[in-house]
Amino acid sequence: MKKIISLIIASLMLITLCCGFASCNKDDNVLVMATNAAFPPYEYVEGDKFVGIDVEIAQAIADKLGMELQIEDVEFGSIIGGVVEGKYDMGMAGMTVTEERKQSVNFSNTYATGIQVIIVKDGSSITSLDDIFEFNADGDPVALKDANIKVGVQQDTTGDIYSSSDISGWGFCDVEEDGTITTDRVVRYKTGADAVEALKTDKVNMVIIDNEPAKSFVAANDGIHILEGDNEYAVEDYAICIAKENTELLDKINKALDELKKDGTIDKIVSKYIKAN
Ligand code: GLN
Repeated sequence: MKKIISLIIASLMLITLCCGFASCNKDDNVLVMATNAAFPPYEYVEGDKFVGIDVEIAQAIADKLGMELQIEDVEFGSIIGGVVEGKYDMGMAGMTVTEERKQSVNFSNTYATGIQVIIVKDGSSITSLDDIFEFNADGDPVALKDANIKVGVQQDTTGDIYSSSDISGWGFCDVEEDGTITTDRVVRYKTGADAVEALKTDKVNMVIIDNEPAKSFVAANDGIHILEGDNEYAVEDYAICIAKENTELLDKINKALDELKKDGTIDKIVSKYIKAN
């Protein structure tokens, strides 16, 4: 009996001890990063390892904080929710800072930029934006050249968000005033690679995605190319997202990012993966 009681007391003490540290099941010395490792060159899988710009920057941050980096590969659309819930300490996935996302999470200082581009099949009838939209005298899109066009995107990304707006907003949907989509010409895939596969097999006419993954997909697949033209309007800032209440981690990450920018580490990592044109 005594033995049982002391066992119970010992286990209770252990539980209290564990829970004393921040959250019950999280090791304080582990920096848990949620990502979607299908976004080369920012994050992807090589053999059994996660590699890419974000992975290396995250490792450099973890080293500075004296923490061990743990990477969780999840769907892009569940990163922010998981960070808000406290499942992950941070989300790093070539993630664009948007006003809407800022309602749910804080973003670090930005460490890279991206541009939305269009990928089409070689020989496509789409050779410029003029083949996609009819424009008014002010240069604003007013109609689609082909009302049956299908656009592939990775679900929940900025490519999805832009494409899902109405035509006057450079999107591909007919949207009612209350936001209801009446005609949806966007096909949403789990990964950019799936969207590219759909393009190759003519399920969609074009794919909208960030420029660097676009370059990687074009390099890895024959018969597709990036549409040339002015797309500076779609320039985005990438940053790390962190739960709103975790300002301590936000400050630490910003400080680490600053140092890594100043000492040239970030440039070095970026140029390892992105060759200057
Ligand atoms: N930059 C885009 C976004 O934040 C895409 C990111 C991604 O697919 N990993 O939505």
